[in-house]
Parts: sequence; C-alpha cells; structure tokens
Amino acid sequence: MKRCLWCKLVESETTFDKKAHTIPKSLGGQNYNQTVCDNCNHFFGNATTENRYSIETALKETFCITRQRFLSGRTQKRQVGKFKSIFFDVKERNGKLRLVLNKSFQFKTEFQQQLCRNFKRGLIKMWFEEFDRQSKSNIGQDEKFDIIRQFSRYNFGNLPVIYFERKYGIFLFTKSEAETPTLILNRMNYLYENEKFTEIEFLGHVFGFPIAQFTREDFDLYIKSSLEKKTDFFVNAVLLDKLIDIDFTLRVMDK
Ligand SMILES: [Zn+2]
Repeated sequence: MKRCLWCKLVESETTFDKKAHTIPKSLGGQNYNQTVCDNCNHFFGNATTENRYSIETALKETFCITRQRFLSGRTQKRQVGKFKSIFFDVKERNGKLRLVLNKSFQFKTEFQQQLCRNFKRGLIKMWFEEFDRQSKSNIGQDEKFDIIRQFSRYNFGNLPVIYFERKYGIFLFTKSEAETPTLILNRMNYLYENEKFTEIEFLGHVFGFPIAQFTREDFDLYIKSSLEKKTDFFVNAVLLDKLIDIDFTLRVMDK
C-alpha cells in the first residue's frame, strides 16, 4: 500500500492522482515521486497566507538565475536583462554580475531570512524526494528522516544548510543538464556524506545538510571531514543565512 513520504497517510486516507515533480518542472525537472500525496504536493507548489509564495517558488526563483546564466553561455556578451527572478534583480558593476534583492521586498523586515528558510526547505525537499525515488525501495519512509518532514513540510525546527564556495569557475555539467537538471547522487568525489549528513550538487552549486538527528559534535566533525575532501576545489563553507551568500549569478566564472 502507498504511504505518503511526507504526511504518512495511506491510499485509503488520501489521494495520489497528481504527479509530484521532485525537481520543479519550471526548472526543467522531469522526474516525479509516486509516494507524495496530492495534499502534500499541493502544499509545496502553492502560496501560503504566511509567505504569499510557495516553497517551490522559493527554490526555483533563485536557481533560475544560475540556469539562465549558464544557458546564455560564457563567451556570449552578457545581457543582464536576461536574468530574471521575482525576488532578485541582477545588476552589473565593473563587468561583474551581482544579486540584489528586488525593490518591492527591500523594506520588509526579515524577508530575506524567511526567503532563505523557505529556500532551504525546498532544497531539502528536492533531495529527499529524489533520494527516495532513486532508491526504488521507499527508503524515505524511515523514521530517521522525520526531521526533514518536520522542517520542510511542517515548518518546525531549523536545519542548517552549508554552501560551499568554489575556488574556480569550472563546472562539470553540460548544457543539456542545465536545460534538464538532474540530481545525480554521489557523482563527484569531493562530495562527502555519512549517516547523518549528505551533500548535493545542483546546477553547479554544492550544499550540505543534515538528514537525521545530530549533535553539535556530529556537526563539527561533518564540516571538518567535508572540507578535507574539498581543499582542491572549494575555499569555504558558509552557513546559509541569506540567499545573496550564494553565487547564483556564477561570478566565479568571471575570475
Ligand atoms: Zn501527504
């Protein structure tokens, strides 16, 4: 019997009629997780009274900048107007692109932090649904992932997400991958994971986050072990607090 990955309701209690895309369709995602019920799928894809945008929007409206930048090519003359997002404006200064919070959001206090929180919820949701889908064994049903359900679906707690800053603007992905992004787990040997933490690379950005209950010692050990694997390619691990910490415009390619 089907059981929802998020709310744990079964087929007799909820419906599974709609396709729940793991990576937002608007970002080019094509896969869907069959054990996400319609109610939970609707939750992630629709605006809430609290935020006036959906979890999926928080994710796609930030990654779309990277995707547009990548698809526009690095040799082509850049057209700043091409990079659009409802949350951010892309500005050019001395030939370099940078992200600025859209004027209409600038005066709202705590907006940035809240947007970042919802982005993190969406990022971890995307990983969780893909990880479960790729396992083909309903591995996501395990109780150890309840902290993910609590955070992404029910907005409880706060999971730290680490963003790894690259040393060089070298991205090992193709144009077709930018058009149809996928989440290939364990592809890069600089990605680190253990029982409590995992890392993903998505559209050239590398993130790490917890997937189960952890202690402060677990966290410190994770960061240490992860950075040891990354010394050749990454300079820093940033605890994500604001989305402008992320190099969405791929400034690193201009170096
Ligand atoms: Zn559900």
